[in-house]
Amino acid sequence: MTTWRERAQTAVRDFVTPLADSIDRAHAVPHSVQQRLAEEGFFGLSIPTQYGGAAASAEDIAAVLEEVSFGSLSVATDLAVHLSVASAPIARWGTAAQKEHWLPAMARGEWLGAFALTEPEVGSDSQHIQTKYTAAGDGFRIDGSKIFITNGGQARVVLVFATRDPKLEARGISCFLVERGSPGFSVTRRLDKLGLRGSETTELLFDGCRVPAGAMLGPEGKGFEVAMSALEGGRIGISATSLGVARAALRVLSSHVRPSSEEWRRSVLSRAHVSVEAASALVQRAARLKDSGADYGLAASSAKLFCSQVAFQVASRAYDFTVEDGADHDEVQGAERLFRDSRVLTIVEGTTEIQELILGRKLSAPARD
Ligand SMILES: Cc1cc2nc3c(=O)[nH]c(=O)nc-3n(C[C@H](O)[C@H](O)[C@H](O)COP(=O)(O)OP(=O)(O)OC[C@H]3O[C@@H](n4cnc5c(N)ncnc54)[C@H](O)[C@@H]3O)c2cc1C
Repeated sequence: MTTWRERAQTAVRDFVTPLADSIDRAHAVPHSVQQRLAEEGFFGLSIPTQYGGAAASAEDIAAVLEEVSFGSLSVATDLAVHLSVASAPIARWGTAAQKEHWLPAMARGEWLGAFALTEPEVGSDSQHIQTKYTAAGDGFRIDGSKIFITNGGQARVVLVFATRDPKLEARGISCFLVERGSPGFSVTRRLDKLGLRGSETTELLFDGCRVPAGAMLGPEGKGFEVAMSALEGGRIGISATSLGVARAALRVLSSHVRPSSEEWRRSVLSRAHVSVEAASALVQRAARLKDSGADYGLAASSAKLFCSQVAFQVASRAYDFTVEDGADHDEVQGAERLFRDSRVLTIVEGTTEIQELILGRKLSAPARD
């Protein structure tokens, strides 16, 4: 039987890798690519089978994300957000009605999901978000804005985090499933970026946005928990996409190191090789821990911290070597894309410094018997 990784390798070789540079130049992933991913069943990987998904293991999901990002990080990022921080939290926290309504079309890839936590004034310190919700009629009213939201313009459903009262910090936050077209909800801007250009990153405005009572995901006041648990799973996804970028960059790097190359160049290649191997082991360990039902937070943050830095380092070196060697225009462009794309990996789903804080907190906690 074909494994999920093998399916992804074939799909990526046939229709993602050949388009990677044009996706970057066009600042968009063609609909045909998303359609092919949907036909492969990738959009339903984290959705239970009763809702039409594949209920794949964390290890298989990581393998698919790694392979897709080996071809294009933009394509993989849209998929990773849909899987890890949109459909997975609906599957985990949703009521039967919410799951029935959203998940089947999300599994088919017809409806994309997005996750909106970050705000213009609040990023890492997410318990201090300012977007407010109040009870209004039979439902709620949401006011505020969100920024850097992946899939924001094309998503059919956005998980929006808002607070009843900012003074309550984490305890005041709830999560809402906001449908595209809801009154008062608009996409105000698509952001231009250094890298990851094919993936849309948007600013969203909620101006008296009205949602029904049934739009709240998880219990009232538990939105911060919804967000943090989604991000913990998402970190395995970002580790896996980092690994895919690092492997793509390693391939470029190795094509510029020959037996006749200077010793230091072979050392650069050796270090990159070992780093990619170690990154792979960390991704696999975190995913296996998640699959076993064990606490995987430490492993996910370790993997995210390490893999994102490896991707950036190897991609930087690969770009240096292609330029130094006077490689042809297409090859330099491909290496440049990997270098620009890799930068975002140390930022999303908790920056490097935030992973260090999380790890420090977990590692210094008293050991449990
Ligand atoms: C391309 C892209 C896509 C994104 N997609 C999404 C999305 O889909 N949904 C979403 O909600 N968000 C998304 N984000 C936002 C992302 O999660 C935030 O950018 C990230 O959490 C950091 O927040 P910030 O940019 O406000 O930086 P800040 O939090 O302002 O941090 C600035 C710098 O200060 C450091 N810093 C902050 N606090 C501390 C501390 N206590 N100790 C030490 N250092 C600290 C940070 O590490 C960073 O280097 C996306 C971002 C990008 C760039």
